[in-house]
Amino acid sequence: MTPGDAGPRWLPAVNDCLARIPQAVRALGVGEALERTALARALDSVRAELSANGGGYGSRADVEREVLERWASEAAQLARAALPAVVNATGVVIHTNLGRAPLAPEAIAAAATAGGRYTPLEFDLDRGERGSRYTHASGLLKLLTGSDDAIVVNNNAAALLLAVDTLAAGGEVVVSRGELIEIGGGFRIHEIAAKSGARLVEVGATNKTHAKDYEEAITGGSVKAILKVHRSNFAQSGFVAEMDLGALCRMAAPRGIPVIFDQGTGILEGSEATRGEPTIRAAIEAGAAIVCASGDKLLGGPQAGIICGRADAIASVKRNPLLRALRVDKMTLAALEATLRLWLSDPGRVPARAMVETDPAVLKRRAEALLGMLGERARAQCRVAPHAGRAGGGTLPEVELTGWALRVDPAGRSAAELESALRAAEPPIIARVADDAVWIDVRAFLPGDDEIVASRLDSLLAGTLRV
Ligand SMILES: *Cc1c(COP(=O)(O)O)cnc(C)c1O
Repeated sequence: MTPGDAGPRWLPAVNDCLARIPQAVRALGVGEALERTALARALDSVRAELSANGGGYGSRADVEREVLERWASEAAQLARAALPAVVNATGVVIHTNLGRAPLAPEAIAAAATAGGRYTPLEFDLDRGERGSRYTHASGLLKLLTGSDDAIVVNNNAAALLLAVDTLAAGGEVVVSRGELIEIGGGFRIHEIAAKSGARLVEVGATNKTHAKDYEEAITGGSVKAILKVHRSNFAQSGFVAEMDLGALCRMAAPRGIPVIFDQGTGILEGSEATRGEPTIRAAIEAGAAIVCASGDKLLGGPQAGIICGRADAIASVKRNPLLRALRVDKMTLAALEATLRLWLSDPGRVPARAMVETDPAVLKRRAEALLGMLGERARAQCRVAPHAGRAGGGTLPEVELTGWALRVDPAGRSAAELESALRAAEPPIIARVADDAVWIDVRAFLPGDDEIVASRLDSLLAGTLRV
């Protein structure tokens, strides 16, 4: 046989394939359009092989069998959800790549109700007339932060854009060179601020910004606001100086210049792990006109941007036409409101907070229990070991959370191979490779994850020994 014989002419026709659709494809129930897309992909890949070198196929029947097989696997890939549940075994709680904070059951239920039913999003139930979507979470936020008023938008980046645009459009906004930070995913404070209608004026040096730097900048008369950004994802040490928020607000107040504070983390209440980090309430008390924060970092809610502040400043934000483009949807508002209620009633039930605060002794017992669930052969390749967790999401950059993990030294294969096998598992398990071992940290496990990890790990590790 020459490659010419086994060329693309051996490829079955689309209609012949459709007449013989494998049960494995039908059973997926993806619909005809996706079935055809999967078939086209299977035919394309086999055609490419046939054109290149005959593909090593012995007969037309072999080619057809291969097409049907690839069809099934392409269809299975198209049937897979884009956002399936994964197990976070990294020990990083607010893992931005894994979707940041997992919601509390109360928040999930609230979002499901708002999403699946009609809800008075912009309707005043008492008066029977049109209401505002921006009132829902604001009462709780006022209570939790001590601010006059609050409003929720799409995310913190949106909150910042809106705050700067509202208070400083057509004028200047002053910011320290030490605070022109990048948050990750290409988000840079000064680039966001530049998209507003305000001109950014940088003052001070990277490591030091003094009162006189701000003073010189704000005497000109065209400065409409000062922006102070919390360095939530890195720390500066050594020869450094910055002006604290309270002092900055006291300097700006007599000139009538409002201070915007980008707090970022969304921390509502201090704790052992978050010691030294500013809360939203502290920033309001220090005199900031507007404080911006994320909903899905240490606040533990859905993706959202929280804007708290003085009544006049929030009223101006509400009048800004940009608000319409940055607005938040009903499921987010419902989930956020439920999360804020937990902060008021039982903060320990906010999952992100609980995961950051878990007692190391509890984590050790959980790791030991996980080890105990494994069969003998798998257990021989694992041991419980200390492992530092992180708050993550660009928060608490210097805090190493004392924790525990299962350290796996797989027999007969590399740590990288085991890590990728865990990632390919159903559901995927995301672990970490370090020191030639795979680390499975239990800190960010959700209920049920222990059993899932034990069973997948057991079959992967027992399988290793069998070969
Ligand atoms: C995280 C963070 C942001 C960005 O928040 P998103 O909700 O991701 O848009 C902005 N500023 C600070 C200080 C942050 O920590």
